[in-house]
Amino acid sequence: MNKTIGILGAGQLARMLALAAHELGVKTICYDANDITSAAAVTQTMQGRFEDEKGLLDWANRCDVITYETENIPLAATDILAGKGIEVYPSRRALAMMQNRNLEKTFCRQLGIQTAEFFIVHNEEELREAVSLLGYPCVLKTTTQGYDGKGQYRLNDETEVSALSLFWDREYILEQWLEHDGECSLLSVRDHAGHIKHYPLTYNQHEQGMLAYSRAPYPDCAMQKKANDIAERIVQHFSYVGVLAIEFFMVGEELRINEMAPRVHNSFHWTLEGANTSQFANHIRALLHLPLGDCEAIGTSHLFNCIGQMPACERILSYSGVYYHDYGKMARPGRKLGHVTWCDFNHPGDTEIATVLRSEINNIYN
Ligand code: ATP
Ligand code: MG
Repeated sequence: MNKTIGILGAGQLARMLALAAHELGVKTICYDANDITSAAAVTQTMQGRFEDEKGLLDWANRCDVITYETENIPLAATDILAGKGIEVYPSRRALAMMQNRNLEKTFCRQLGIQTAEFFIVHNEEELREAVSLLGYPCVLKTTTQGYDGKGQYRLNDETEVSALSLFWDREYILEQWLEHDGECSLLSVRDHAGHIKHYPLTYNQHEQGMLAYSRAPYPDCAMQKKANDIAERIVQHFSYVGVLAIEFFMVGEELRINEMAPRVHNSFHWTLEGANTSQFANHIRALLHLPLGDCEAIGTSHLFNCIGQMPACERILSYSGVYYHDYGKMARPGRKLGHVTWCDFNHPGDTEIATVLRSEINNIYN
C-alpha cells in the first residue's frame, strides 16, 4: 500500500508500529526530539522539537496520516498540524482529555464511570486539606507528563507528607489509594466507519509502579463485558479512530478506571504473537481505512517486561514457544528495554514455564 504514516515519538511503541506498517507495505516516518531512538533502527526518523513549527510541518508534509506513540505531546503540536488541515488520530479532543489525569477522571465521572476519589492540589496547604479528606494511604501524581510511575509519591503517613520537597510549579492530583483485587486492561479499536473491536481483557501486575507482567486472556466474561461497555461509550463519545487502552482496578465484581491511553499499550504486546491481529497492525488498519483484524487470542499468553537489563537471549530462546523482543535501547535502571512473551497454545493454565521465565528475568528498577 503506497501510504506513509507519520508517528510522533520514536520509542519502542513507534518501532513496533513501524514494523507492523512495513508488513503491509506502508512507510512510516517518526518525529522525535531525541537523536538516539529505538525506532531509528527500523524506520526513517526526523529529529525535531514538538514546538518547532517548521520542523513539524516539513515532517508532516511527507506523511498521509499522523498518529502518536505517547500522550505526552503538546497539544500545540496537533494545533499546528490542524491549522494546515493535517489530521491527527486519535483526535486532539481525546488526546487532551487522556493526557491530563484531572480531565480524565472528571470525564469518567460525567459518564458515570467510577474512579478513585481525588482532589486537585496546587500547594502544600491544599495538599494537607486533601489528605485530611482522603486519609492514608494516598498517592500524589502530576496531572500531566507521568509514565511508568514517574512523578508519583505514595503517602502513608504525615511524615511522608512533610518530607516531600516539591516546587509546586505545576498541578498535582491526590488520589485515594484504591485497595483492589487486581489490575487489568482493555484494548479496543475503532475505525473511521465506526466499527469497534475489543481484545481480550489482560491481567496486569506492577512492580514499583511499572508494568512487570501481563497475562491474557483474563477469563472472566462478566468483567470483559463490563470493560467492553465502558470502552464502547468512550470511543463513541469521541468518534474515536485507532486503538484505545484502558487500565482498570478490579474491586470485587466492579471495575474502576485507573487511566486511559490513546495509543498502543505495553500490556498488549502479547498480541504480536498471541492474537490473530496485533494491536500495532490493528491501529495501522484503523488509520488507513482497512478492515479491522480479528482480536481473538490464540491460547494463553504471558508477557514479561525486561526493565533495567535484558536477560540473555540464548537462555530465553531455549524455551519453546517463547519470543524475545529487544528494543535496542541503552540499559539504565528503571528503563523498559524489551519484553519476553510465552504463548501457551497447547496447555492453557499450565504456568510452569511462566514461573521459570520469571526467575530468568531480573529487573533492575533503581
Ligand atoms: P504507566 O505508564 O505504567 O501506566 P503511570 O505513570 O501512568 O504508569 P499509573 O497508571 O497512574 O502510573 O500508576 C501505576 C501503578 O501504580 C498502577 O497501575 C497501580 O498499580 C498503582 N497505582 C497508581 N495509582 C493508584 C491508586 N490510586 N490506587 C491503587 N494503586 C495505584
Ligand atoms: Mg498506568
